[in-house]
Amino acid sequence: MPIYEYSCNTCGNVFSKLQSIRTGPGETECTKCKSLDLRKIPSSFASTVAGAPGSEFAAPATQPSGGGGCCGGGCGCG
Ligand SMILES: [Zn+2]
Repeated sequence: MPIYEYSCNTCGNVFSKLQSIRTGPGETECTKCKSLDLRKIPSSFASTVAGAPGSEFAAPATQPSGGGGCCGGGCGCG
């Protein structure tokens, strides 16, 4: 089941909810104030799962990407 993120227009509470894809609008209430006035936040959760088994990115990189800053391991700053 996908995770949806909501922002409450009443109290400003932001929360994520695991719910069925068939869940319609008005069926979700704020976890804090029970308001139904919610704004759906586009979640990038599914696309940011890195290092999954079998992924080409699973192995630790031997080189920092880019090479723009010195904090990538070159000069040992920080
Ligand atoms: Zn609320």
